[in-house]
Amino acid sequence: MITDVLIVGCGVAGLYCALNLPEDKNITVVTKNEAPKSDSFLAQGGICVLRDETDYDAFYEDTMRAGHYENNPDSVHIMIHSSREIISDLVSFGVRFEKNGESFNYTREGAHSKPRILFHEDETGKEITSHLLESARSRKNITLIENFTMVDLICSDNICNGIVGHDAEGNYISISADYTVLATGGIGGLFKHSTNYRHLTGDALALALKYNIKLQHIDYIQIHPTTLYTEKNGREFLISESVRGEGAILLNSKGERFVNELLPRDVVANAIFDEMKKEGSEHVWLSLSPIPEEEIRTHFPNIYQHCLSEGYDVTKEPIPVVPSQHYFMGGIDVDRYSKTSMDRLYAVGETACNGVHGRNRLASNSLLESLVFAKRAAKHIESNYSKLTPSGEVTFDASQYEGYAEKYKKMVLEAIEKEKNSHE
Ligand SMILES: Cc1cc2nc3c(=O)[nH]c(=O)nc-3n(C[C@H](O)[C@H](O)[C@H](O)COP(=O)(O)OP(=O)(O)OC[C@H]3O[C@@H](n4cnc5c(N)ncnc54)[C@H](O)[C@@H]3O)c2cc1C
Repeated sequence: MITDVLIVGCGVAGLYCALNLPEDKNITVVTKNEAPKSDSFLAQGGICVLRDETDYDAFYEDTMRAGHYENNPDSVHIMIHSSREIISDLVSFGVRFEKNGESFNYTREGAHSKPRILFHEDETGKEITSHLLESARSRKNITLIENFTMVDLICSDNICNGIVGHDAEGNYISISADYTVLATGGIGGLFKHSTNYRHLTGDALALALKYNIKLQHIDYIQIHPTTLYTEKNGREFLISESVRGEGAILLNSKGERFVNELLPRDVVANAIFDEMKKEGSEHVWLSLSPIPEEEIRTHFPNIYQHCLSEGYDVTKEPIPVVPSQHYFMGGIDVDRYSKTSMDRLYAVGETACNGVHGRNRLASNSLLESLVFAKRAAKHIESNYSKLTPSGEVTFDASQYEGYAEKYKKMVLEAIEKEKNSHE
């Protein structure tokens, strides 16, 4: 196959990049699973926005403090300054955010000094991503291929010319492109307990390791303090931080509070681990009793229903919660236009690292960051567009990919461990 721009992954980052590329280019988007099976669809809490210029300093400081001041200041600045434009774009795509009359209704999450988060019930990600997906499906220049897994890059002399992948039947094909954008999301599938989809296994990182593409902070992995404790296997169900933002409290087995619930995620998660260790327990408790019942039903209908299906009525009783892997702050190193260290190769969304989040992401900054830097990638490709001289027919031996999934997981986990050890 040949295309102008190839995008791997169709969460918010991949879709928004596709929608911001010129309509006279042929764009192919491939995704490992069905299109709605991305973490973007799972985002509950919301998306941050600069409410007005008077909030700039506080928004900047909250992001930097949560990131332990290891954030890239330039990236943080770009993200905050682009946020209002992104929200208007989303609204023009039909995305609905909660309103109070004509004005937006803002919620708050941990480590935010004030409410600045737009939301749609507790399914903000689904609201945003389904509208982007619908728009992408209706564009004549965008072809979406589902159940297609990237297993390799086509590259030589540090220039990327597309990918090799396979369909659901295991047929391998190459897709050549002038530009390739990696938008493969997080790495939760590498961990036993994670809120992420299991098929998100950091495949782009394995390929970056294979071809010496620069990575950054790959040991910066966020643990979310509150996922519903269950003995079942599979993806962990997130209890959004905005539940604590609206007043929910954490309790130990004696019904005592043991931490300020609105501290940054890493601090709250560590406090929970300490409490579990002290008590020898498998979880702590989260009580939503400070939140009015009506507010629970209208703001958190999805959480309410899910907990009910697991046997807990959050309007009447506390629920067991435990921290789980949630987000990847590190990733493929990119510049302010989302360009990687390989020519004609970009990375956007959770798989990329432009340094916005530092060592710990501030709640609801991820959708925003993914959208801001995906648009910047699209605009950069557009303004620098040149045809890649055809390198002739791409040939490959598919047998080399036998057992690649386990091999790639092992490569990434070993690299993370190595990076971790280098700091100790
Ligand atoms: C439960 C949950 C709640 C969250 N809540 C919030 C929130 O309230 N606010 C916020 O800002 N952030 C939140 N986040 C984080 C945010 O949703 C993600 O960081 C963001 O959506 C990532 O978008 P993405 O486009 O980079 O990746 P994703 O949306 O995960 O998409 C990745 C895509 O890559 C594809 N892919 C992966 N590997 C391959 C491969 N080898 N070949 C082909 N395709 C591949 C996948 O199939 C998928 O289409 C939450 C995350 C989770 C899990």
